[in-house]
Amino acid sequence: MADKYTQLVNQGLGKNVAKRLGLPQPALLRRYNPGQPLISGPVVIQGDSAAADKLGAELLSWDLDIRRHAVPGEKLGAIILVLDEVERPEDLGRTVLGAAASLRDLAPSGRVLTVSRPAAEAGSPAVAAARQGIDGLLRSLAKELRAGATGNGILLADGVDIMSPSALGAVRFFLSGRSAFVDGQFLKISDAGGTLPQDAGTPLAGKIAVVTGAARGIGAQIARTLHRDGATLVVVDLPAAGDHLAAVANEVKGTALQLDITRADAGQRIIDHAVQRHGRLDIVIHNAGITRDKLLANMDPARWDSVININIAAQLRINETLLASEHFSQSPRIVTVASTSGIAGNRGQTNYAASKGGVMGMVRATAPLLAEAGGTINAVAPGFIETEMTARIPLALRETARRLNSLKQGGQPADVAETIAFLASDSAGGISGEVLRVCGQNLVGA
Ligand code: NAD
Repeated sequence: MADKYTQLVNQGLGKNVAKRLGLPQPALLRRYNPGQPLISGPVVIQGDSAAADKLGAELLSWDLDIRRHAVPGEKLGAIILVLDEVERPEDLGRTVLGAAASLRDLAPSGRVLTVSRPAAEAGSPAVAAARQGIDGLLRSLAKELRAGATGNGILLADGVDIMSPSALGAVRFFLSGRSAFVDGQFLKISDAGGTLPQDAGTPLAGKIAVVTGAARGIGAQIARTLHRDGATLVVVDLPAAGDHLAAVANEVKGTALQLDITRADAGQRIIDHAVQRHGRLDIVIHNAGITRDKLLANMDPARWDSVININIAAQLRINETLLASEHFSQSPRIVTVASTSGIAGNRGQTNYAASKGGVMGMVRATAPLLAEAGGTINAVAPGFIETEMTARIPLALRETARRLNSLKQGGQPADVAETIAFLASDSAGGISGEVLRVCGQNLVGA
């Protein structure tokens, strides 16, 4: 689904007219393209902790152009603020103000990245204040960036080193075009688990992955992205969507499983299908979901129940079967699709928000259960994504909804898919129980 306005204001006449009338001018975002450089332009690393030095040395080995001091006027690919050792709010100024002037030199679709530690794990009020301050400052800074540039933060749990696989995996994800529509967010690295891929171009090589709701929209794109990253696919959707599902299966050289995920035996059918063909299952992406919007005052049981059943109850049942299966036990990965509606709430979506809030609660509580097998479970929470689901929103409301974020545009299904592919990879093995929003930093709500 194209956002024609964004295309229009990025070329010739449209660009001039939008500028003269003061209309929003959303940027064309830099998106991941295999084979292209991770990021173009120098990366400035600010901060004086040991982690800053170690990260600088590591990024040099990725063939990036690393600077500890910016040269004014030189276009920068990224600015990384390493703040993992701050002990008081007064400590923030030196590093943050040291980078301030460089912000003007950030290239279009450039990146600002903070590296810090969770406030909740701080041992004193001053440390907690300094750490929580980074949260406020990064979210504000992300709203000041322009031309498709984004700001995000990595939180290293206490005891986790910047050189741990998932910390480096997250740095790569945030610098790359894979994170184009992730803005103003923090991602916590809980432990030193995970392994970096041998080939950064095919991080899912050898993995067997199931995607539900894959006949169209975001699910079809997730299947394409996991296939591009090296996974072998089983795509699942309703029998009524069989033709579209078969087309996606052909495209990704995978197999199709026609299945209503609300069936009591859905989890077993998924495992049986994967085991018969591939001997095991490594990755499950719970993407299938529906909306049945009504104000709560007008809500009927059919609308309420179908949304709860498909969006969350089915996932709980399937996960129970997966967790009990010996065929889903080698560093398994579950990634599920929540929604910013489940965080900020949305008028007319009490049923949907209850189901998506439920997804996030489930993820946090399931993480320790999967940890025993070296597994992880995480959620992505998309904001406004250009799909058939959002194309049905009335025009005026749709136009408002897609512009009300820091990037002034809706995301593409690929943006959700890229984030899911990262969380499903071995390099995200130290990330579990997290919810990562892919919303361009929604300006309304949470
Ligand atoms: P979509 O309606 O285009 O696709 C959903 C797919 O799920 C369809 O192919 C449908 O047949 C399938 N499905 C529905 N019920 C099923 C069932 N019982 N068993 C098996 N398959 C079933 O939706 P989309 O926009 O691609 O959304 C995908 C996911 O992303 C959903 O979970 C949705 O809630 C979530 N999401 C979407 C947006 C957005 O802006 N589009 C925003 C936030 C979250």
